[in-house]
Amino acid sequence: NPVTGRTAPARAARGPGRQFTDHPEVAAAVAKRAAIAAISAQSGMPNPLFLPRNSPNDTVIRAMDTDLVNFSAYNYLGLSSHPRVVRAGQAALDQYGASASASRIVSGEIPLYGELEQRLAGMYDVGDAMVTTSGYLTNAGVIGFLLREGDVAFCDSLIHGSVVSGTQWAGCRRINFRHNDPDSLRSVLKMSRSGFDRALVVLEGHYSMDGTVGRVAELAAVAREFDCAVMVDEAHSLGVFGAAGHGIREHYGMAGSDVDIWMGTLSKALGSVGGFIAADADLIAAMKSSAPGVAMLTGAPAPSGIAAAMAGLDVLAAEPERVTRLWRNARLFDAALRERGLDLGESQGTPIVPVIVPGEIRAGFVSAHLLQQGVYAGAISAPAVPVGKERLRFFITSEHTEQQLLSTADLLAAAIALADQLPEAMAV
Ligand code: PMP
Repeated sequence: NPVTGRTAPARAARGPGRQFTDHPEVAAAVAKRAAIAAISAQSGMPNPLFLPRNSPNDTVIRAMDTDLVNFSAYNYLGLSSHPRVVRAGQAALDQYGASASASRIVSGEIPLYGELEQRLAGMYDVGDAMVTTSGYLTNAGVIGFLLREGDVAFCDSLIHGSVVSGTQWAGCRRINFRHNDPDSLRSVLKMSRSGFDRALVVLEGHYSMDGTVGRVAELAAVAREFDCAVMVDEAHSLGVFGAAGHGIREHYGMAGSDVDIWMGTLSKALGSVGGFIAADADLIAAMKSSAPGVAMLTGAPAPSGIAAAMAGLDVLAAEPERVTRLWRNARLFDAALRERGLDLGESQGTPIVPVIVPGEIRAGFVSAHLLQQGVYAGAISAPAVPVGKERLRFFITSEHTEQQLLSTADLLAAAIALADQLPEAMAV
């Protein structure tokens, strides 16, 4: 290359894969994971990363040939292994086989998709809904389809990475406002809204890394003042908020039409896998007939997963006390951790409990130490959270027992005290 002076043989010597693995961000992530594995190996503590499990992802899981109390699964209502949910999946497997074997428009269509979509549209009080194979793809595909160059997505600064991917697919601008702050949204919109054709404000009902509750009603009202459409990600709020578990809309008593696109996943409280949007019928029709990644150019969702999600909604309707138990457990755990003086960041006592342990290796150490004591809670580090705000994240479910919650609080406080004694070099 006459500009860089690089020669072809030098590239060849690096090998075809090295050009990607040598990238500093990738290399740093690999090195940190290796450091956590090395600490585990030296200390005899198990490595919590990629830990294989041989049971449903319930409050007690089977892994490393032992039983572990589990706080690493967003199975908020314990539905993924509920007999009704499992039987519904099995029946769909028997009737339709393991795969839809086609996109819906070709031959993949089965009545189950439409049935679940009608249920979701009814729940959100909007015209229609569309189910998809993944929540990630739903955000990426819907935003990627709706917005273009010249458009803008105004996003909460803690918005999920799948929304960021959507803006990249779209080639639109992404402008962040301060987390959960209507004043910040208003000033950003005042400054920037007029420079763009179409604008979408993207919010979440319940933020997955901090456990903060989206101020969706207030933020949506601000968005409306500036002629912006609004999209709300209910991944961690459906099944969690509202007395019936119908999400953040129920929590705030909002009308379905207060938001343009309700998005959610089937993979969390509903105990299955996949994503959905619920919205105006014309918008859904447009997406179904031409949006890549969610309807076109991709296979239809597995029939068993859709049947399981529908059964999950049935159980939610039949046993709303699961939601009550979930919140009782969340409050109990929150109080127990605060009593022990732990740093819960911005947590608001919801079923997502961040326990801040700065330093990726320190957080990994605490996670590994807990695992050794029979408690599984994942460590989260950059880029999912800012450097210095590394944490253990506990997902509380309706099925945890008081004893599991209180003994975990003790073990956690002890593990953090041990991590505080780690040499300075490890506090990274
Ligand atoms: N949105 C949010 C807020 C999420 O936390 C997640 C997954 N953790 C997704 C979307 C993606 O959902 P899925 O796992 O169904 O792909």
